[in-house]
Amino acid sequence: MAQNADTTELDERWRDGAELRWLYLDMNSYFASCAQQDEPAIRGKPVIVVPVMSDYTCAIAASYQAKALGVKTGTQVKEAREKIPGLIVREARPDRYVELHNKILEQIDHVIPVEKVCSIDEVVCRLMGPQCLEAPARALGHRIQRRILENVGECLTSSIGIAPSRLLAKTAADMKKPLGLTVLRQDQLPGALLDLDIDEFAGIGRSMKMRLNKVGVETVRELWDMSPSRMRQVWRGIMGENFWYALHGTDPPEIETHRASITHGHVLAQELRPVEHARGVARRLTAKCGSRLRRMGYKCGGLHIYLRGADGEKLEAATRFAVTSDSFRMLQACDELWAQCARKLKGPRVKQIVVTCLHLLEAGMKPDLFGWTPEGEEDGRHMNLLSALDGINQRFGKDKVTIGPPTKMHGFVGAKIAFNRIPEQPEFWE
Ligand SMILES: [Mg+2]
Repeated sequence: MAQNADTTELDERWRDGAELRWLYLDMNSYFASCAQQDEPAIRGKPVIVVPVMSDYTCAIAASYQAKALGVKTGTQVKEAREKIPGLIVREARPDRYVELHNKILEQIDHVIPVEKVCSIDEVVCRLMGPQCLEAPARALGHRIQRRILENVGECLTSSIGIAPSRLLAKTAADMKKPLGLTVLRQDQLPGALLDLDIDEFAGIGRSMKMRLNKVGVETVRELWDMSPSRMRQVWRGIMGENFWYALHGTDPPEIETHRASITHGHVLAQELRPVEHARGVARRLTAKCGSRLRRMGYKCGGLHIYLRGADGEKLEAATRFAVTSDSFRMLQACDELWAQCARKLKGPRVKQIVVTCLHLLEAGMKPDLFGWTPEGEEDGRHMNLLSALDGINQRFGKDKVTIGPPTKMHGFVGAKIAFNRIPEQPEFWE
């Protein structure tokens, strides 16, 4: 009991109405800044970084000087050159970015432990004790920015957001660039948020924005005034309610920070073992992974298939693609992997199939170097169709609507009670 009293007292001492719990750091134009750091001659000039040297690829980073002239991440090189005569183009150097990334982490660690690395140029740290007050939190942020500039590189500027929830801290980090430091206090919400567009929040992409617009939500004021249950309805799942809490300054109850993969597997009944039927099962498992990804607010950047033949042979294949939660794209990958494995089967029958989504990324997070490709945009029509299918299946039971012919699988697919994972309730209707 005495300990409880102490904790309460401690909490009260660090309460000034700001309720700051997270510090989010986002490196500014990271790849372009690295290029300028390594090559003093191109500092202060318009620079873009490209994955390969071609006029038909897109910039994966643009320096602030290039941004000022209308070229940004995603601009095609050809178009960028037309806009900026004399534009400097540099090929990406992934190993160098990782090296500098590690040096940056080291510097942050001197000031405050890193809670999670969100991408190659973004990290989030948890504030504790007196750090939850505005003045010490600001001082901490400035100290981190200074340490990186002094000890890693003078071109490596960063923007920091400090706020009560992780979502708001990330949003705050985006509000002032370069070298910004933005604090969003609980007692001033929604305050500064009202000047943003609704799609400036992580978790509101193009298709979610369209869904919100459709129900009459266009401004942050209108978004702020929605109820948790309304958001749940519009998001078609718990992610909506989680978004409400995060927007209002409270982290949703369970942020799954280290989910590495999503897997669905099935041991096939005798009648499904012939290869032509088994392929249908693999597709069904893949579609199921897709709807689970969307429900959990994730995307994946690869797929892995494992097959066990009826003769006991084990086959596997994996592939990478631009991060997506588009089941159609995932099915295409499944078909390719299936063809690779089926060729090596000794007999005509398959006993077990396991499908795994690889390289998971929270849907709101920007794909980075590790998952990034220029054609990473999702097909809006696919995504609208899929969210309609998810909605129908959630309402009327699983498999009411499937992509392609339904496979004759008995009972549920995959949502087994395992010792290491308790299935989430919605899995039973996916
Ligand atoms: Mg960045």
